Amino acid sequence: MSEKFDVIVIGSGPGGYVAAIRAAQLGLKTACVEKWVNKDGKTVNGGTCLNVGCIPSKALLDSSWKYHEAKDDFEVHGIDAKVKIDVKKMIGRKDDIVKKLTGGVAGLFMANKVTSIEGTGKLLAGKKVEVTDHNGKSTTYEAENIILASGSVPVNIPPAPVDNKIIVDSTGALEFTQVPKRLGVIGAGVIGLELGSVWNRLGSDVVVLEALDSFLAIMDQQIAKESQKIFKKQGLDIRLSCRVTGSEVKGKEVVVTYQDKDGKEHQETFDKLIVCVGRRPYTEGLLSEDAGVKLDERGFIYVNDLCMTSAPGVWAVGDVVRGPMLAHKASEEGVVVAERIAGQKPMMNYDVIPNVIYTHPEIAAVGRTEEQVKADGEPYNVGVFPFAASGRAMAANDTHGMVKIIAHAETDRVLGAHIVGPSAADLVQQVAIAMEFGSSAEDIGMTVFGHPTLSEAVKEAALAANGHAIHIANRKKRK
Ligand code: FAD
Ligand code: AMP
Repeated sequence: MSEKFDVIVIGSGPGGYVAAIRAAQLGLKTACVEKWVNKDGKTVNGGTCLNVGCIPSKALLDSSWKYHEAKDDFEVHGIDAKVKIDVKKMIGRKDDIVKKLTGGVAGLFMANKVTSIEGTGKLLAGKKVEVTDHNGKSTTYEAENIILASGSVPVNIPPAPVDNKIIVDSTGALEFTQVPKRLGVIGAGVIGLELGSVWNRLGSDVVVLEALDSFLAIMDQQIAKESQKIFKKQGLDIRLSCRVTGSEVKGKEVVVTYQDKDGKEHQETFDKLIVCVGRRPYTEGLLSEDAGVKLDERGFIYVNDLCMTSAPGVWAVGDVVRGPMLAHKASEEGVVVAERIAGQKPMMNYDVIPNVIYTHPEIAAVGRTEEQVKADGEPYNVGVFPFAASGRAMAANDTHGMVKIIAHAETDRVLGAHIVGPSAADLVQQVAIAMEFGSSAEDIGMTVFGHPTLSEAVKEAALAANGHAIHIANRKKRK
């Protein structure tokens, strides 16, 4: 007789491990299956986010930014620094952080009495999970509820097949042991911009090739345009309307062919090429044919608003289902599903999910863009406050960018916030909280903010939405 659990989670990324912990906290007998094996042959938890995603990329972004600041920005503060980089040490520090955090998940599993099962999980009919361990031995488990959290993997494109030597995906780009002199990046999305920034700061000449003709098409376009200008100044050569159509590895370099908007062909030679053209849901080997779980036309596991799949008692969360491919979205869905299984009635608010690009300055957004609000035909006010007018940003010599707040013209309810600037990720969270509470721009404007803080730019942008910011000349004057 196979062991029976209340809940089995397949996948221990931020969707799966958080779901498992929450289920166990609620008194459910829970197991989490994970197949990820590290270079040292050990199974690790944490999924993409902890191993090859959010955390390692942020570790390298922070290290490379410190290097850039010391090399180029300290002088203005009257500090004369002579700096050099040790890339291997930088990568080693990143690896140590990953190790601490993935080990931390294992610790949390133990503390919460989540059973860790190593191997590849496959959902069978009748709420059974077959796990094949790394020696090929299979064991079948049963559960009242099963949560699929198998995540996503990078998309590969035929014109640039990853060889993990010269042409890499985002995982390979976190492992370079020296700075490539000429670096090509395919795709000016979130991951391409972050990884391009890391190596640009460390000294690579970076060319980003993007097929679309607009930059950061899904972001608020005023913020996207401002960001594009800032990146240009930083030396990131972002070429829009440039579709990569081929690549040829020649010895230690790669020749990339791309077409511009007129269909004209160009070639560029790089020492390394990072392919960052998006991610796709990962369901390989996850579902037996009779499991009863349907996929949608794009290969995502089909779920309803509550993350229920088409098979009773089977749920799915995170990158493997519709919605933004973000760690915090995955985790929140994990919590909601665990609580639903335990009989509670939580709902997830998909309208207020912050989205961040961790370049410098950061780009962060929550809610609707101006383009979306306009398309929805709603009357709105916009308040903008530039960091150039912030005392704290000036003190930090970090004055690029702005906070933009969009509020409904009649109700004043905040509809969206879009920021490019220092600490944008943390600033946008303040507006996210306000939006969760149904705040008006006036509510934010009436809140007392500490001085001098970068946060004051949020207050001023909210005041500006109603025409009475204090530290800038207002475009619209209202009482
Ligand atoms: P994953 O993290 O992909 O985890 C899925 C897990 O399931 C994996 O461990 C996998 O091994 C396991 N698995 C799959 N199939 C099976 C099976 N059959 N049996 C057992 N185990 C299985 N998001 C952010 O919010 N912020 C960021 O800053 C950010 N930065 C990123 C940077 C990079 C370079 C990348 C690549 C991604 C980044 N993301 C970021 C996205 C984020 O990593 C994902 O949204 C998040 O990891 C999704 O979580 P998940 O739990 O759905 O899936
Ligand atoms: P994201 O989905 O945010 O990770 O971004 C991936 C980006 O890669 C998108 O903006 C795509 O337009 C871009 N992209 C996809 N294929 C190509 C290609 N062949 N050449 C250039 N850019 C591409």
